[in-house]
Amino acid sequence: MKILPHPQKQMSVKGTTEVYAIFGHPVSHSFSPAMHNAAIAALGLDAVYVPFDVRPEELESAARAVRAMGIRGVNVTIPHKHRIIPFLDEVSAEVSLTGALNTIKNEGGRLRGFNTDVGGFMRALAEDLNIRPKGLTVTLLGAGGAARAVISGLAAASVSEIFILNRTLARASALAAQFAPHFRGVSIKALWQEDGDSIRECLGKSHLLVNSTSAGMKGAGSLEIPIECLPRSAAVYDLVYNPRETALVKAARDLGIRASGGLSMLIYQGAESFEIWTGRSAPVEIMRSVIE
Ligand code: NAP
Repeated sequence: MKILPHPQKQMSVKGTTEVYAIFGHPVSHSFSPAMHNAAIAALGLDAVYVPFDVRPEELESAARAVRAMGIRGVNVTIPHKHRIIPFLDEVSAEVSLTGALNTIKNEGGRLRGFNTDVGGFMRALAEDLNIRPKGLTVTLLGAGGAARAVISGLAAASVSEIFILNRTLARASALAAQFAPHFRGVSIKALWQEDGDSIRECLGKSHLLVNSTSAGMKGAGSLEIPIECLPRSAAVYDLVYNPRETALVKAARDLGIRASGGLSMLIYQGAESFEIWTGRSAPVEIMRSVIE
């Protein structure tokens, strides 16, 4: 006899159903629809979250469609995170600082932009690694979009020093120059990936090493960092979440250094978006369970 699977709870879309979305290009790899629809179902909300593959040349039309079609909230991912800003009515201080957003809230046709990567990263540091940032020395690998969210969060939380280490020194220097005037009490310096002596010195006094490069991602290049120079009491956070345990995280753990991969940041940035849109506390464990 064939045994039929237990019937799944059906999502019911009605005339009243609120629509949330993600805009990206490509977008098919995104974990956000699974995470948000699980959260919506867990709270019994009359809502649905859908992915839209928006080509860059259609971004302005897509932003207008949010108003025209009453889409209640949107996540924005690569490559639109900074390009969509001119099409909004208002942005948060974090968006102004980072030059990027990942969340839009539609308030009666008024589009407000937020960057929940900043809060997502800081919550991941606290919850995964028990980090209290005030006064810490941090080495940050990478000077791209994600690095901006990391610097914003850490500098606002009053770390003492940030060394931005990048393959292209000019990008790290530009970032240091951009952020330094906003955070006078934080020393923000650029370092070149090839400057081995300085790197070893910085790592030796770092409490925290953060990887915000795409190196270590499945299919991308690998990182050559002398992490054995880190004090054993330091911590490592790798924003890369695919694979779940990156080579950097594994190397740190092998040295007895506590380390975490980027999945928690992904979950917490999603949780913060959900809270901005719905005003409800996000069911974080449910969101985690569908993507882990
Ligand atoms: P991005 O703007 O393209 O920046 C990429 C950075 O990585 C640049 O600094 C680049 O250096 C560096 N890089 C790339 N390949 C490298 C290699 N082989 N060796 C050394 N450095 C290399 O990308 P992004 O938006 O910042 O994203 C970076 C990573 O963070 C991605 O893996 C992304 O998935 C992850 N991320 C995770 C979360 C999360 O929630 N966990 C959120 C945002 C991003 P150059 O300047 O020299 O090119």
